[in-house]
Amino acid sequence: MSQDYRKMWESLGLDLPAHDALLEVLGKGYKDIFMAQENRPKGMSYFDFVISEVHGLRVKELLDEKAAGRKIIGSFCVFVPEEIVRAADATLVGLCTGADFATEEVEKLLPRNTCALIKSAFGFKLGKVCPYIESADMIVGENTCDGKKKSYETLNGLVKYLYVMDLPQTKSSQGRALLKAEYIRFKEEVEKLTGVKIDAARLKKGIEIVNSKRKAIHRLNSLRKADPVPISGLDALLANQVYFYDDPGRFTKSINALCDELEKRVQKGEGVFPKGTPRILLSGCPMAVPNWKVPWIIESSGGTIVGEESCVGERGTRNLVDDSGSTAEELMDAIVDRHFQIDCAIFTPNPDRLQHATEMFRGYNANGIIHYSLQFCQPYLMESIPVEKALEAKNIPTLRVETDYSMEDVGQLKTRVEAFIEQLK
Ligand code: SF4
Ligand code: SF4
Repeated sequence: MSQDYRKMWESLGLDLPAHDALLEVLGKGYKDIFMAQENRPKGMSYFDFVISEVHGLRVKELLDEKAAGRKIIGSFCVFVPEEIVRAADATLVGLCTGADFATEEVEKLLPRNTCALIKSAFGFKLGKVCPYIESADMIVGENTCDGKKKSYETLNGLVKYLYVMDLPQTKSSQGRALLKAEYIRFKEEVEKLTGVKIDAARLKKGIEIVNSKRKAIHRLNSLRKADPVPISGLDALLANQVYFYDDPGRFTKSINALCDELEKRVQKGEGVFPKGTPRILLSGCPMAVPNWKVPWIIESSGGTIVGEESCVGERGTRNLVDDSGSTAEELMDAIVDRHFQIDCAIFTPNPDRLQHATEMFRGYNANGIIHYSLQFCQPYLMESIPVEKALEAKNIPTLRVETDYSMEDVGQLKTRVEAFIEQLK
């Protein structure tokens, strides 16, 4: 880290020894997994820097924004519309949910058989190791899966300002009406928090900022269709993870600079893995920082990941908001329309997800799909069996894995992934 941030962390109420231990594990994991890769694009040095400063410089920037009167809003889900937050000159940050922490304390509040993602959110709060959760002026929960929905009742007593957004469970006209009503309610809440009245001009600005981020990611995705692939799945996942908390303008610029470099690689036929390396599409639960276990297993077992059908991936970033409207109402409708297309497994039925996974498989020239579910995640686990059956009926080789954040099953997972990749060859 470029400077000593201990005073800043102390002021946020972090438990410094526990936080030191977390940073040590994170740093070591990053070095072993990311820095050990060969032939990485030079543009990834920006993302290495971001990760090295993830609890340092970025947090300082957020605190500086707060000192200048701006508000910080934390969220756990891609249904929380960043456009509305940006329209009020506030900042949206994704909250860390990718590692186990303070599990014993967490299991005093949540059942043991809760998914690792929810437990992680509680663990970072209870263990006092997350500067983002402590910096947030408001945290947005959303009524998606039952686990999250019910756990927010408990989280409400642990954080200073939890706002819960209701979400539809069906892609019906009533479902869209509910999403629209909830986005209007959210806009009003953001206006109250920030003291900013969100009009059409502000919404347009918010849409433009977020659409630019998404367009840069779309460009990155399209470059991953090449064989050999110019960037590893691990590095592309990292870019998708950083999407959630970096400054948006800087992020967009850095992704575009990375893409300039990758375009040259593709033109020269250069890649990170040899041409013909089995190409995997990863589909399922989102992978938040520092959940890198399954991608690392895949890419150290002779395969490469060419796309993520995931909320930290294409499910989260595909589709732009139509910015052609001229009134606030039209622009709000466009924001609703874009988000209503997200095919999260909480929707029933959810045929769009299967269709999207199939389109991605073909579009990215993949050879197989690995369906990843977190243990105890009912929506994705329930959906994984019909999805696997439907994909196999289309002759798409599919492997279903179910895991958590521990490293105990690495050997077993690696054996299964290696056998799957061998079969693809
Ligand atoms: S998987 Fe569903 S609940 Fe989770 S971030 Fe995506 S949309 Fe939200
Ligand atoms: S991983 Fe599954 S159970 Fe966990 S929060 Fe997401 S949808 Fe809910």
